[in-house]
Amino acid sequence: MTTPFRHTKIIATLGPATEGEAMLGRLLDAGVDVLRLNMAHATHDWTRAIIRRIRAVSARQGREVAVMMDIKGPEIRTGTLPAPLNLREGDAIDLVVDPAAPARAGVPAVPVNYPGLVHDVPVGAVVLVDNGLLRFEVEAKDSARLSCRTLLAGELGSRRHINLPGVRVSLPSFTEKDRADTLVGIEEGIDFLALSFVRAAEDLETLRRFLEEHRSRARIIAKIEDQSAITNLEAIIEASDGLMVARGDLGIECPFEELPVIQRRAVRACLARGRPVIVATHMLESMITQPVPTRAEITDVAHAVFEQADAVMLSGETTVGRYPVECVRMLDGIARRIERETAGEEGVGAAFTGERMKILHAAVTLARQIPGARLVAFTRHGFMAQGLAALRPGAAPILIFTPVPGLLRQLRLLRGVEPILLELSADPNDTVTRALALLRRSGRAASGDKLVIATDIVAEDRRVDSVQLRTLA
Ligand code: PEP
Repeated sequence: MTTPFRHTKIIATLGPATEGEAMLGRLLDAGVDVLRLNMAHATHDWTRAIIRRIRAVSARQGREVAVMMDIKGPEIRTGTLPAPLNLREGDAIDLVVDPAAPARAGVPAVPVNYPGLVHDVPVGAVVLVDNGLLRFEVEAKDSARLSCRTLLAGELGSRRHINLPGVRVSLPSFTEKDRADTLVGIEEGIDFLALSFVRAAEDLETLRRFLEEHRSRARIIAKIEDQSAITNLEAIIEASDGLMVARGDLGIECPFEELPVIQRRAVRACLARGRPVIVATHMLESMITQPVPTRAEITDVAHAVFEQADAVMLSGETTVGRYPVECVRMLDGIARRIERETAGEEGVGAAFTGERMKILHAAVTLARQIPGARLVAFTRHGFMAQGLAALRPGAAPILIFTPVPGLLRQLRLLRGVEPILLELSADPNDTVTRALALLRRSGRAASGDKLVIATDIVAEDRRVDSVQLRTLA
């Protein structure tokens, strides 16, 4: 590429630190590919306004990015407290599902938003609150409360997230709140829906039916966050359009030392099936308050790039952090360096059996043998882009031309893919000619560059797949 190219994609979550128009522009300039909206914290008015703002800034800067709505699924939270509670080890506390039930004398009662809690959680279970910062053991229960003992002391504020490691929660996977949030997303034309706490493939099928009923083309990202998701990993990947390794909750729901093993297994399983995979959470956590990351964070980001994940994701770093743009630049710099290091390594991509995929495989093999080559393909439905990205063609960027703006935004998630808007002609030769002219005009390629083009050609009045090697005139 005449302009340097980053293969690993960057997702940034929006919040108070990044919702303004000027900051959105800076994030796009810094190279963000996907913007995520976390519906645990978003109102519908905010959601509509921010999506429209993203589209307006994208149009102004000539770079369409994707919007991912992250819906909360079966999430359990504590309710509002008049003041934070300071809990010491050994203190009694009640988690209450019936606000009308009389409180136990001298025991603080903390409301919980899920009435089924007392049914699902057995005596002896451990309840983790606020990302595991507080830990309770259930000592007794009745129809109104779990009576707990504090194992890990700390301050408990309002609306804190609850984790129940190993407990099968009977909440529906796609809740009433998720439906309402998704409808707003569909109306505003979101590109991805990330479903939290996916436990089985059927959870995704429910969401897919809902999207189809409402004629949405949003793609579904399965967030794996607990032990059920690990048990059903292969089926979940198969039923999804992509996976997010949501390490925040995973790190609470599973033993710590399992986390890197799960990440590696999940990334490999996605690569083997040609599904995009996102590594998320705490990638540059210290940069919420500091202008530089820890050495361990740099190595963690590098690790995700070595593993060939499609994307890395920022959460608190860009929602409330002091250095959102610096975080994006940091990811960008680390990704480029690691990609340079691994450019010549053997592919780790998917092995597909169909004839079309074999043609793409031939194109990737050719591109790998020509230093500086770029892959070029054309797509209306995304197949060519997904296929080439799944084959992980090493250093070769994948330049994908599509006439569909919504698809263009979704292709931004795929490792190595640079999507470009172009009307496709009935005559494939004409399409190639116009695409090459556009590449030269936009500075994405220059005279003398080698292009490996996977395209239809007309032979004996029939369209046949072909792989061409061209040198840009
Ligand atoms: C996570 O738990 O890592 C995650 C991405 O989910 P959320 O930020 O929605 O809790």
